[in-house]
Amino acid sequence: MSEMPTGIKIFDTQSRTNKEISLSNGQYARVYCCGPTVYRDAHVGNLRTFLLSDLITKLIIFNGFKVKVIQNITDVGHMGEDFEGNEVGDDKVVAEAKKEKIDPFIIARKYEDLFHQDLARLNIEPAEVYPRASEEIEGMQELIAGLIKSSHAYVGSDKSVYFDAQTFPSYGAISGNKLDSLKPGHRYEYHDDGAKKFHADWALWKAAGDRTTMVWDSPWGIGFPGWHIECSAMSMHYLNKKVDVHIGGIDLRFPHHENERAQSNAASGDEVVDHWVHGEHLLFEGRKMSKSAGNVVLLQDVIDRGFDPLAVRLCFLENRYRSQMDLSWESIAAADTTIKRWRKKYQEWRQVQDAHVDTTAADKFIADVIADLNDDLDTPRVIVKLRSLEKDESISPMTKANIFEKLDEFFSLGIMRGDKKAELSDDAQKLLDARNQARQNKDFKLSDQLRDELALLKIRVSDSPEGQSWEVIP
Ligand SMILES: [Zn+2]
Repeated sequence: MSEMPTGIKIFDTQSRTNKEISLSNGQYARVYCCGPTVYRDAHVGNLRTFLLSDLITKLIIFNGFKVKVIQNITDVGHMGEDFEGNEVGDDKVVAEAKKEKIDPFIIARKYEDLFHQDLARLNIEPAEVYPRASEEIEGMQELIAGLIKSSHAYVGSDKSVYFDAQTFPSYGAISGNKLDSLKPGHRYEYHDDGAKKFHADWALWKAAGDRTTMVWDSPWGIGFPGWHIECSAMSMHYLNKKVDVHIGGIDLRFPHHENERAQSNAASGDEVVDHWVHGEHLLFEGRKMSKSAGNVVLLQDVIDRGFDPLAVRLCFLENRYRSQMDLSWESIAAADTTIKRWRKKYQEWRQVQDAHVDTTAADKFIADVIADLNDDLDTPRVIVKLRSLEKDESISPMTKANIFEKLDEFFSLGIMRGDKKAELSDDAQKLLDARNQARQNKDFKLSDQLRDELALLKIRVSDSPEGQSWEVIP
């Protein structure tokens, strides 16, 4: 099948343009999103990247196309990094396991479960597959063996396998960090003992050394995979050697994505990723979120303060994914108020007796929204439009309800939540209908009497120029 354009333009870091997303197989978009390293809780900053993947996925669906999303779980191989992007220090999962004195796999599964719980709380649609690095060792080894065979990789004197960066001349295309501008750092001059041929080479497979957990047999001796190779192996395996959209946080642009691109392209002989999308950093109350600054905020903290976790989702939507944004308790509280008001309004709009829907106005509103979203995901502009729609008295209540309902397929703010219609008994419905009739007949005495009867059934009725509406008395 031939390539199919989608009409969705998103900024591509590599070409530095707003580039149209295309389905290269003509059937569905192949999307890969770098997942979590499961050694600690994901904070709301990490969740912003995962939400970006959800927004792009839902936008593709909203435009009428199918999509397949793969997101990896890094449960082994992610070391710390120095300023040059070299991997140094301990494996993050293994180090945490040592600290907590438990099996690293127990640590990994615990944080993996919490990750899925957070995604669900943010209404993020699950990926089709969440491959774990520790369960994809064979695929990574095959990829590494192929790279050695084609002379893109070599076994160093320390029995680790390195990617030979100089065999990949277009290195730096995503980040601008070309090989000749990458200066040798201090660290490897002292630590690497010349195991690498070139200072910018990186490990694909690391010799175990004295490490005894999370290690595997390999053609090059016992060891464990480097972090970058897992994303090449998984994206090419699960998406059949072509990624239409690759998503990750801006901090992964270099070296993680640069290295992934080199590995994947060298192995396939082709440009594997068509579109690199990067989400910007999140600040909290003006500062970068970090353990040392003591301002790490988890989704659980948001819930513990009595807010709906989807308030965080709305805060993210009010900011462009490509701008650094500053989240605060104040903005979360404001978003929480907005969501609750929208849910209440939705119920009121639905319950007015005049069910007139202006389909032309609704279709036009939705088409405009899709155009904004297709223009590099301009969610802030759409939220502004929704706020004015809410107040626009020239649009009928039922039309507003229909628009909010349709757009919630993309925004996923649970606008229809609290829909108590199903819980309304037949008796209550009869009383509501009778009261509406009484009001139309201007029989206000009967109307008041019926309101009191409804109150006994725990239904509170209110009247507005738009008609009668009701809510369940808690
Ligand atoms: Zn990755």
